Amino acid sequence: MNIRSKLPHIGTTIFTVMTNRARELGAINLAQGFPDYDAPTRLKDLLALHVAAGQNQYAPMIGVAELREQIALKLGASYGRVPNLDSEITVTLGATEAIFSAVVSLVHPGEEVILFDPSYDSYAPAVISAGGRPIHIPLDPPKFQIDWDRVRAAITPRTRLVMINTPHNPVTTVIPRKELDILAEILRPTDALVISDEVYEHMIYDGARHASIVEHPELYERGVGVFSFGKTMHATGWRVGYAVAPPDITREIRRVHQFNTFSIAHPLQLAIADFLKEVPEHNAGLGAFYQAKRDRFLELLRNSSFSWTPAAGSYFQLLDFSAITRQSDVDFADRVLREAGVASIPISPFYVSPPKLSVLRFCFAKNDSTLEEAAERLCKL
Ligand code: GLN
Repeated sequence: MNIRSKLPHIGTTIFTVMTNRARELGAINLAQGFPDYDAPTRLKDLLALHVAAGQNQYAPMIGVAELREQIALKLGASYGRVPNLDSEITVTLGATEAIFSAVVSLVHPGEEVILFDPSYDSYAPAVISAGGRPIHIPLDPPKFQIDWDRVRAAITPRTRLVMINTPHNPVTTVIPRKELDILAEILRPTDALVISDEVYEHMIYDGARHASIVEHPELYERGVGVFSFGKTMHATGWRVGYAVAPPDITREIRRVHQFNTFSIAHPLQLAIADFLKEVPEHNAGLGAFYQAKRDRFLELLRNSSFSWTPAAGSYFQLLDFSAITRQSDVDFADRVLREAGVASIPISPFYVSPPKLSVLRFCFAKNDSTLEEAAERLCKL
């Protein structure tokens, strides 16, 4: 058969590649972002209760009401906006489905979508699947800041969407509120929409506050906020996330969502809803919990040859290896895996045209013992 690939340039994701290699070599996996500690016991017990109670049939397409109610309360508490339960919140199969359903429902063939490279690896394939054209704006190392003049210059009558990610994966930067204002000002004369991937919203450090599209009156009118319980509940394998958007945008997202995944695992949604009801302070503790992990990891590396700027957000830390070698990041990641037995993620696969990069991404959502063992190995490089 002559199969004409729609995504001929897309291989297996770097997260899967590095995780498989870590497994083969028995290395410590600080590559793919997931905790090596478990989800809360109470959350697991609630799931078991709902399964035993027979909540095993389809959930409503938009998500169970109990969970949408908790999401609305949470967004109200965090960002001062309580979205409408029925018309603005959709529970999705992780943030990845939220992004895919939003992009496919909002982007028409030939329309342009602005992405900032390094861009999370699911964005461009979603745009291409929709027939859209990714327009890649690079973030330059070492600071990886958005150059808003480049954004201004990239806007055309075909611009349909801008995709932002704060805190940023993989480079751990955050977009401050005043830069959201700049984006709003740039988009004011256009019909472009914004998808804001905020799955690390609560992992933000050193006293900073997360600036969400949900609290931005002007951007929210054209925006989709994407969030993840995988991150906040330490349960990446549950694959439960959500999209928040004004009713006219939500209507379009649901047109795709209902035929993409239809609805999300029913007992998982009920367990998360009950857990949030019982432990409303859960999210508030995440910042301090992860900042302690970041600081512990960096403290353990103080005698290493790496240098760094502490992550502003996310549960990843970039380590600069320019004092060790002039190898490419991909080659050095391979060496760290083979010689030190620690898997990490290079950054260049997230660019269409990568600059010279001398940093690797390490996940610190790990038990202290894992961080200690990994740091000991990294100090030998
Ligand atoms: N979000 C995870 C990370 O950044 C990866 C998830 C995946 O493997 N697709 O590491």
